[in-house]
Amino acid sequence: MSDLLERLRGRGWRMTSQRRVVAEVLDGDHVHLTADEVHARAALLLPEIARATVYNTLGELVAIGEVAEVSVQGRVKRFDPNAHHPHQHLVCTRCGTIRDVHATGLPADLPPEERFGFTVSAVEVTYRGLCPACAAGAGRTRS
Ligand SMILES: [Zn+2]
Ligand SMILES: [Zn+2]
Repeated sequence: MSDLLERLRGRGWRMTSQRRVVAEVLDGDHVHLTADEVHARAALLLPEIARATVYNTLGELVAIGEVAEVSVQGRVKRFDPNAHHPHQHLVCTRCGTIRDVHATGLPADLPPEERFGFTVSAVEVTYRGLCPACAAGAGRTRS
């Protein structure tokens, strides 16, 4: 579960009404919004919020490590509030729906002879396939 707002309060992030709205929109599970989606939802809560403010706030949240950027195969970048909870993504190759998933075991364990002397600190695994709606032929088409 996401606790973005609590984490930001806990670290003393300067919480203006505009920044709070951006954090509120991002808070939750399975949240992977594009910057434009964040702006659209934030504007429902705070109509005067500027797009540039949303973009700047997102950039800052990523810079301080509270929000992760998710890039999936040439699609537009998305923002994930669960930066502190290691997880993998299950991605629909047709409509782009993304779910947070937690694999059991290490799906991408790299044997020592394949590490070329690197100290490996992180691994990214993406599971791809069709979501139930697309598999049933009812999925939406997204860019
Ligand atoms: Zn789909
Ligand atoms: Zn995620």
